[in-house]
Amino acid sequence: MAEEEGEAGGHHVLLLPGPMQGNVNSMMKLAQLLALHHFHITFLTTDFIHRRLYRFADIHSLSQTYPNLEFKTISDGLPDDHPRSGNNALADLYSSMNSFAKPLLRDIILSQTAAKSKITCLIGDGFLGGLTADVADEVGIPLIHFRAISASCFWALFCAPNLFESNELPIRVLCLLSIIMPDRMRTESKLIEGEEDMDRIISNLPGMENILRCRDLPSFYRGTETNLVDPLKSTVFDCHQTLRARGVILNTFEDLDGPLLSQMRLKFLRVFAVGPLHAHAKTTPSTSSFWEEDRSCLTWLDSQPLKSVLYVSFGSIATVTRERLMEFWYGLVNSKKRFLWVIRPDMVAGEDNDERVAAELEEGTKERGFIVGWAPQEEVLAHKAIGGFLTHSGWNSTLESLVAGVPMICWPCFADQQINSRFVSEVWKVGLDMKDLCDRDVVEKMVNDLMVHRREEFLKSAQAMATLAHKSVSPGGSSYSSLHDLVEFIKSASR
Ligand code: UDP
Repeated sequence: MAEEEGEAGGHHVLLLPGPMQGNVNSMMKLAQLLALHHFHITFLTTDFIHRRLYRFADIHSLSQTYPNLEFKTISDGLPDDHPRSGNNALADLYSSMNSFAKPLLRDIILSQTAAKSKITCLIGDGFLGGLTADVADEVGIPLIHFRAISASCFWALFCAPNLFESNELPIRVLCLLSIIMPDRMRTESKLIEGEEDMDRIISNLPGMENILRCRDLPSFYRGTETNLVDPLKSTVFDCHQTLRARGVILNTFEDLDGPLLSQMRLKFLRVFAVGPLHAHAKTTPSTSSFWEEDRSCLTWLDSQPLKSVLYVSFGSIATVTRERLMEFWYGLVNSKKRFLWVIRPDMVAGEDNDERVAAELEEGTKERGFIVGWAPQEEVLAHKAIGGFLTHSGWNSTLESLVAGVPMICWPCFADQQINSRFVSEVWKVGLDMKDLCDRDVVEKMVNDLMVHRREEFLKSAQAMATLAHKSVSPGGSSYSSLHDLVEFIKSASR
């Protein structure tokens, strides 16, 4: 490690993740890796998240392991009791941080004036769009964007103008054009009338031609008249803000997303594909949970047969209705397979007490099921009893499953999840896509397909992908080299 770590004395990097669990998890791993290369790191999170980390994550031992990693906080601008999970919470956090955080971030950077602690490079989450680019320009330090979403989602959003050119945009586009293609702004509406054909194939996305159907595009391309325009406009706009950065860091690897990465390199100054971040040697698992991990599930798993358990989790933000939850429950029970299910305390929309819901379900599931409020997911996926993962296809969950060699059933909810699940089933062939279909019969059938009928086929392809993932972060591997390039770039750019 000595040679790769080098001496980065005097370089101080500030990392600002978007205020969501997946973004904090992946940027925390990046922070650890940079700290191992002797950078002085400031990890800047919102007050709300810092309180959660302080309570549930082991940030004390992190600070001991990485003495050059310090934590600072910033307000997200929302009242303390404002909901921060659920599908609408992201939009609130986004707009609030974009209006509140800019002067705060600038002041934090400018306050570090002493030569030794001066911040010399900013790594900003692309979720926050132009915020970090504006501040970096103002204070005159190099900016690198980090994207916590999948490369495919980032690229599909970036390429919105291509979809417009080929008349493939599935939804209304006028507002989008007013921002990224002002010269092409047209007065007449480009609305596609009537019912969209969600199975129409999308051809004009470089690097992923004819792979996606309309229904596989990132969720920002979907929606109703009233809620669609702003999220689409801002996410496409934010992707284009990355052109203002000196480079972009992606949590992926060449063997996974090679064709897309080649296309991106034609547009962006530098593309650092350094993932899977959590698979690099020396990062520690589960250090940044926002909820208390229930480790009793690991003991339960210890007593289950090899690869017999389906792990079920919908991540940290998605909510489900009680009706949908019951469809999953019946599907799982009727499949007669063992399962470990995460039902977060705030997961069931409209329920005051989800723990009671979980307890009721567990009562009827004792034989084969185990329910927890939050699991140590990386460790669960690595457990020998796990044979499949029913996931919402968040990017971190997808990568964690790929690294563990666990096949997936995908039930995507929003953001990059629709496109991730398409790649899982059609490109990497490591699972099944349950997109837009969810009733007890579909769940039962897919669980049996994954865990019984097509088990060997999926286990084989998932194992092969896991081998490639580990190879990429080993000496000589593509992500290992890309991390080295990133380290060297930060040193040279921030002199
Ligand atoms: N996670 C966890 N325990 C759980 C559920 C999720 O530690 O019980 C972690 C998971 O390992 C992943 C993150 O939460 O790193 C979720 O991120 P992802 O991108 O998959 O989905 P999001 O929460 O952003 O929708």
